Amino acid sequence: MKSTIVLLGPPGSGKGTQGEKLCSEFGYVKLSTGDMLREAVKNQTELGKKAKEYMDAGALVPNDLIIGLMKEKIKEANGKVILDGFPRTIEQADALSGQLEVDLALNLDVADEELVKRITMRRSCPDCGAVYHLLWNAPKADGVCDKCGAKLYQRDDDTEATVLNRLKTYREKTLPLVEYYGKKGKLVTVEGVGSIDEIYEKVKKIVQ
Ligand code: AMP
Repeated sequence: MKSTIVLLGPPGSGKGTQGEKLCSEFGYVKLSTGDMLREAVKNQTELGKKAKEYMDAGALVPNDLIIGLMKEKIKEANGKVILDGFPRTIEQADALSGQLEVDLALNLDVADEELVKRITMRRSCPDCGAVYHLLWNAPKADGVCDKCGAKLYQRDDDTEATVLNRLKTYREKTLPLVEYYGKKGKLVTVEGVGSIDEIYEKVKKIVQ
């Protein structure tokens, strides 16, 4: 069983969803920089105030805000971890490699047109972080989280205009990590199309 997994793939490729499923079944701790930043924005912390403008523009938050924070969280987790949304640049990957060995970089591959459809129809729970899709994975009651009953919302950066910037940022800054982990012999790419459960079956085989 792999103990340190990096989830790679563009926004909307299913990193959060597949990561959650691995956590429930195998007891990983999932560390999502996006979730941490959204929490900071919600609580209006210093980090949140600085990060918001970058997130709303679909750009990456500067490394000095994110690398130290993530290193701290990894230290606290001290066990089987899934990193969702980190590293997102070669510099972040180099910083990570100084702290722990990555066993697997799991790359979810999904075409751009599909990503835009998925992201703009995504609805998220502000309290427990559950994620839904209005067509393919709708909540049982309209606009209400199945898991905790909170009112669902659309992330500020899940609008069509921002999504296109996020995809551009992904291609420029994060895609080089596919080659980076490929050269280290850690990369496995999964086609992230089909139902959530179909994709998860493929993911599980790779992780085990
Ligand atoms: P996500 O939920 O992973 O799609 O992240 C949402 C937004 O948070 C991204 O568009 C970035 O603005 C920011 N973000 C998340 N992770 C990172 C990271 N590792 N480095 C820089 N910015 C990040």
